[in-house]
Amino acid sequence: MSVTILKGNIVSAPALGKLDITEHGYLAAEDGVIAGVFDCLPERFASAPVEDWGECLILQSFADLHLHAPQYPMMGMGMDLPLLEWLDTYAFPAEAQFADPDYARDVYRRLAHDLIAGGTTRVCLFSSLHRPATLILMEELEKAGVTGFVGKVNMDRSGGAGLRETTEESMRETLLWLDACGDFTHVRPILTPRFTPACTDELMAFLGALARERNLPVQSHLSENRQEIELVRRLCPACGQYWETYARYGLWTDRTLMAHCVHSDARERRAMRDTGVTAVHCASSNNAICSGVAPVRVMLDEGLKVALGTDVAGGCSLRMFDAVADTVKASKDRRILDSWQTNFLTVAEGWYLGTTAGAKFFGAGNGFAPGDRLHALVLDDGELAAPARPLTVRERFERCVYVRQPDAIRAVWSDGRRVFG
Ligand SMILES: [Zn+2]
Repeated sequence: MSVTILKGNIVSAPALGKLDITEHGYLAAEDGVIAGVFDCLPERFASAPVEDWGECLILQSFADLHLHAPQYPMMGMGMDLPLLEWLDTYAFPAEAQFADPDYARDVYRRLAHDLIAGGTTRVCLFSSLHRPATLILMEELEKAGVTGFVGKVNMDRSGGAGLRETTEESMRETLLWLDACGDFTHVRPILTPRFTPACTDELMAFLGALARERNLPVQSHLSENRQEIELVRRLCPACGQYWETYARYGLWTDRTLMAHCVHSDARERRAMRDTGVTAVHCASSNNAICSGVAPVRVMLDEGLKVALGTDVAGGCSLRMFDAVADTVKASKDRRILDSWQTNFLTVAEGWYLGTTAGAKFFGAGNGFAPGDRLHALVLDDGELAAPARPLTVRERFERCVYVRQPDAIRAVWSDGRRVFG
């Protein structure tokens, strides 16, 4: 049996708003499975080698539940356009390039490396509509040590020149792609209708049946932008609300992720809560393309499942540290917009959403839960400017969400394996 023992200042978020802090403690794993966090090393590990990280912070690694892999090269571009124009001008032409497998290989190798180097070990990723490029993405994620779900995008309407598939092509390519996914162990398929405006009813019905037959999870977008919601209303007059365009075809289950939900009203939120759909909050993107400020505090109070996504490239950072900080900032904007009637999110709450809450989609427990596979990172803040008084571990942790030294992440473990540092 292989034993991993990490010594340092261990911080984890076992519940919303709660931090467990063990100073100069031990995080132990056996064959990649967490045995526990200890103040003193238990006798049974007495002869095991200890990796001593000194004053460094040992943290849970991140779960990024919404981003678009083929948009990575155009991150930070077109940020002055609203959603639908931004898609036509930037996102769709960028995704069309992924018909070229060599280009896909270059971009996806870089993306997979950057995810791991940034401490993101679990993802739910949109690929493009291209089957070969989607399989290349899955290969590169596996090689780098990223775990999670990847979706070949389905879109048989909208997309523009160079990014189009017929309904029949979309169905056929999806089945061929699923057949080829059996070779992967850490990265699995997720059905990915882009969003209702990009998918005909026939395609949605096909995907819903497929989700049911093969017990597959689903990811898409919901109520991100007012123009988009209006477009869905025109395209689907039979549906009272946006979410019903997914629900009517069996794409609305407790294994469904819906990105954004910025404008979801009480009725739509209730439908999410009652079914167990996860809302994926993407604060950077919602700000960058002026979609709005999602009512995350209200969602949490109402009992919805909420996790975080970077939404690259609507969002302009791949770093989940930024996603956590942006989530806290957005919640303060929401408080101001709500006339100070809603509470903002604390750093500890934002951290929970970016780690434990996202990991739950993959079946993980709370914080560094015994029995879970080890997903962790080591963070060094030793080079940051030192205040006159010594900081507590909690203060250091909070500062690191907002301020980080270059190359602060020293090592990363994913699914029990050391994958960086
Ligand atoms: Zn998105």
